Amino acid sequence: MSKEENLECSFCGRKKAETDLLIAGMDAHICDKCIEQAHGIVEEEISEAKTSSLSKDLVLKKPKEIKEFLDQYIIGQNETKKAMSVAVYNHYKRLLQTKDNDDVEIEKSNIVLVGETGTGKTLVARTIARMLNVPFSIVDATVLTQAGYVGEDVESILSRLLQAADYKVEKAERGIVFIDEIDKIARKGDNPSITRDVSGEGVQQALLKLLEGAVVNVAPKGGRKHPEQKFIEVNTKDILFIAGGAFSGIDKIISKRLNMQAVGFGASLEEDTIDHNNLLQYITPLDLKQFGLIPEIIGRLPVLSYMNPLDAKTLRAILTEPKNSIIKQYAKLFVMDDVEFTIEEDALNYIVDKAVEYKLGARGLRSLCEAIFTDAMFDLPSSDEKEFNVTKEYAEAKLTNSTLKKLRAAS
Ligand code: ADP
Repeated sequence: MSKEENLECSFCGRKKAETDLLIAGMDAHICDKCIEQAHGIVEEEISEAKTSSLSKDLVLKKPKEIKEFLDQYIIGQNETKKAMSVAVYNHYKRLLQTKDNDDVEIEKSNIVLVGETGTGKTLVARTIARMLNVPFSIVDATVLTQAGYVGEDVESILSRLLQAADYKVEKAERGIVFIDEIDKIARKGDNPSITRDVSGEGVQQALLKLLEGAVVNVAPKGGRKHPEQKFIEVNTKDILFIAGGAFSGIDKIISKRLNMQAVGFGASLEEDTIDHNNLLQYITPLDLKQFGLIPEIIGRLPVLSYMNPLDAKTLRAILTEPKNSIIKQYAKLFVMDDVEFTIEEDALNYIVDKAVEYKLGARGLRSLCEAIFTDAMFDLPSSDEKEFNVTKEYAEAKLTNSTLKKLRAAS
């Protein structure tokens, strides 16, 4: 036997003739089969290390702790905060689950939030993302179009998430996407025969692909305008989608259904127990279907919750109670100029009254404060004043009718 034929793999002992390839090292040899096996081991080890480092980044709390965190930033909306806490907990439990062979696969708990604009839908989603320390992006469903039409492809949703994750794909794949105004892509009318509904059903179909957990090719900078850029593969399996919308008019759908139930055989709800001022609390997936979301989309958004309208008491609390409330933010701004900022109870109530009177909602609170405090923020840094106390009279003087009209027009 020649010396050459005597060579063998130092790992498995195969003779050179039994291998397709035998590579020589310093004092040893390795065959093609052992290389493949070693490669597999390396891949597995690296991916395990990645998962455990991602898990370390992920701050997972119990549902009660999640709700307590949300309570610090969001006033009221207890039903939604509770539903979100459970959904998010389950979602991330699902991410951390080890692959055991019991065939039980926990499905994703994407969420849909129904409520008027400015009631805190985006705030809830953003706060959850902050708590979990995962990338977060917001997209407006109204700009999305079916592929081939003018507008943004649904894939652009993932481009933004990638951006929020500094282009780290594994990070993006565990992020949260808030899809705003999902109601605007509803099918016009609950009539499945209208199939050429470009803006509505087509987009819903396209969105479905993301919600179903597909691997999607994403142009990193979004859009088809840069054909030269390489696509990045993003797996949407573990991305949590939270959709929100005002679904204006859905109260009529709910009311109609409730009335039918109330008079129907085996009525489940007594007519006099229904709170007609806040019908959203009775919302069911059926109402979303009636509104024009396709059943497949509804099926992929299994957690349905609603936001309560904000009354004066809630608006008053929003001004001062959240951890980063508007008033606390102004106080901080003034402190940076060594000015102690205080605001009287009357003045706070006056701001709330105006927000209610002009139907400005929670978003209006900030504009109202801005209008009241701008002069002081301009003057005080250059003055020797060390105190700034806002009385109701001061607020009234700064909020002229023309300012209020402007705010209303802008809202
Ligand atoms: P939506 O997404 O429902 O239109 P947002 O989440 O954008 O509403 O809310 C607008 C702003 O109003 C938020 O930035 C927040 O300052 C305030 N806000 C609304 N609802 C609440 C709430 N329940 N608690 C605290 N702040 C709120």
